Amino acid sequence: MNKPLLYSFLVALIGCSTIEKKSPGAFFAGEIVNPTSPFVVLFKDDIAIDSAKLDGDNRFSIQLDTVEEGLYHFDHSPELQYVYLEKGDSLMIRLNTEDFDETLIFSGKGEEINNFLVEFFLSTESEPAIVYSYSQLGPEEFSHILDSLKNIKVNDLNDLIMDGTLSDRATEMAKASIDYNYYIYKEKYPFWNRRKTGKGNIQELPNNFYDYRKEVDYNNKSLTYHRYYYNFMKTHFNNLSYMGCYTKCNDTHHDIVKNKLHFNQHKLKLIDSLVIEKNLRDNLFRNVAMDYLISVHDTHENNRIFLNDFHRFSGNNSHSAEIEAIYQGVNNLQPSNKLPNISVFNTDGTLVTLQEIAEKEKNAVFYFWSGTQRSNFQNILTRVAQLSENRPEFTFIGINCNTDVVRWQSLLSANQLDMDRQFRTDDFENLKNALVIGGLNKGIITKDGRIVNAFADLYSSF
Ligand SMILES: [Zn+2]
Repeated sequence: MNKPLLYSFLVALIGCSTIEKKSPGAFFAGEIVNPTSPFVVLFKDDIAIDSAKLDGDNRFSIQLDTVEEGLYHFDHSPELQYVYLEKGDSLMIRLNTEDFDETLIFSGKGEEINNFLVEFFLSTESEPAIVYSYSQLGPEEFSHILDSLKNIKVNDLNDLIMDGTLSDRATEMAKASIDYNYYIYKEKYPFWNRRKTGKGNIQELPNNFYDYRKEVDYNNKSLTYHRYYYNFMKTHFNNLSYMGCYTKCNDTHHDIVKNKLHFNQHKLKLIDSLVIEKNLRDNLFRNVAMDYLISVHDTHENNRIFLNDFHRFSGNNSHSAEIEAIYQGVNNLQPSNKLPNISVFNTDGTLVTLQEIAEKEKNAVFYFWSGTQRSNFQNILTRVAQLSENRPEFTFIGINCNTDVVRWQSLLSANQLDMDRQFRTDDFENLKNALVIGGLNKGIITKDGRIVNAFADLYSSF
């Protein structure tokens, strides 16, 4: 090969790779085995930026002309998972909805970071129980166990970095996953330790126990929607609020548990004083409000006081309308009220109001299920069957949320459910807000068409 030719060959090669690198877009495609929805929707943070319909072979493709580097998620209802995208990425996924996360595999340009993130996610799913089992240990020993668990992940990541395929930003994202995942356990330790040892008070901690808090970044836009980072923030503010009330407000454990209004006001104040990034602030404030309004069931007056504080600290919160709806919902669901004016379909496809259903029964329990979350559906059915036998004075009424009509009917017959006691809605958003449904274990108990307890739990209230 003569030199000029070699040079032009090299120039052409370099030219190609430069063009590839400079491509401002990204390609995201794949195949979904056993689809549970006709679509794949791609989100950046909480905004849907593109979607694609599955073709006859259950394949989809999305071409983004420009891509902001960072964490995205794709939604194939009802499941979702993260995807990390950079300029020039060309990423293929394959998954089977019967085991969504376990079967998810990425291939193509960008596969390394994405496979790392999903493998990390899977490997941490069973970890809380393991870490909890060590939480009776003293703080030094506990930290030591955490360090050794963490080191395994750090070594995996270092191997990947050595391969030279990760960009700096991708490395940073992977590192944040590992760091914040293990920071969470540190925040939980004092409470887990108290529970596990059965001691009445919080274990004293060495001065360096929370040293990592110096590294915590309250203003990192690229991590705002990152699962470990956000879970860390929630746990961290629980810990800070509890310790704040314990030491600064001189509250006893009993005071903190009893006076949820004060505790949650304290938490709002702490979030306000530490968090800078707007979306993270909004999301954390929303989380405190939902938690307080939905799980505490405080008096009407206390709810109002809390909401005033919420608006004072977070006047332009992007979730304000939702929080107001929940607040209204909670007020409407007070004992002895009638049920909100919501209609659902019966098995003939006729609309009936919840109130009409409730009035036909002496004692009724409304429960909720979704045909797409199989394990949840099976658990709820088993529980309701058990309760129907033990508590024959109640009529159990199932409300299906968002399963399409054909699949719903086939699930009803397959599970031999009583057709007169099964209903469905295709507007779960409305139902969820009006009935303040935080989780699918919720039950609403009525007597003679009036609410007895709209915040019952199928497991703990019976
Ligand atoms: Zn306090």
